[in-house]
Amino acid sequence: MTLLITPKDALIIVDMQVDFLPGGTLPVENGDHIIPPINALTQRLPFSTIIATQDWHPHDHVSFEASGGPWPPHCIAGTPGANLSPDLDQTRINCLIRKGLERGRDSYSAFVDNDQVTETGLTGFLRGLKTERLFFCGLAYDFCVSHTALDARWLGFESYVIDDATRAISSDSYPTRHRLTQAGVHLTRSRDLITLPD
Ligand SMILES: [Zn+2]
Repeated sequence: MTLLITPKDALIIVDMQVDFLPGGTLPVENGDHIIPPINALTQRLPFSTIIATQDWHPHDHVSFEASGGPWPPHCIAGTPGANLSPDLDQTRINCLIRKGLERGRDSYSAFVDNDQVTETGLTGFLRGLKTERLFFCGLAYDFCVSHTALDARWLGFESYVIDDATRAISSDSYPTRHRLTQAGVHLTRSRDLITLPD
């Protein structure tokens, strides 16, 4: 089903950071393959709001293995690994949301920390702009992308994940897709997002 994108729609590019790409400390397999489709989305479609999120952790963050967490150190604030990919076209990105800044708390979602209480401010930003629909892409499908899309749905936004512009850490994305669709998040593809010709 094709969807006509208008300036009322927002694109949210999740965690396209050096450490999550091949060569980084927590690489998502083929994560670099989604850079061209994401660049095409920002260049081709009339989103007036394009948000990029970043994991932005202290060096002793709770999610790191040395602190008893599940992940190798990644996206340490101010280090090159925390930068957005230099291949990502940032020209039209008008908002950056950083998450996971507190040592003792992680945040998979760009809306609310994993404590389900502490907000990042993204909800108010989008409501202030009267954004109606949110489109999600980026890394990783089964963690930050899906948690962010699920929170968006829960907050009442019409939410779409662009399936070809995201990649998962797990080799099986079926459980993630199932969880999203069960919650009312729509799955779409880049080629189904269209704009009116000039
Ligand atoms: Zn993290």
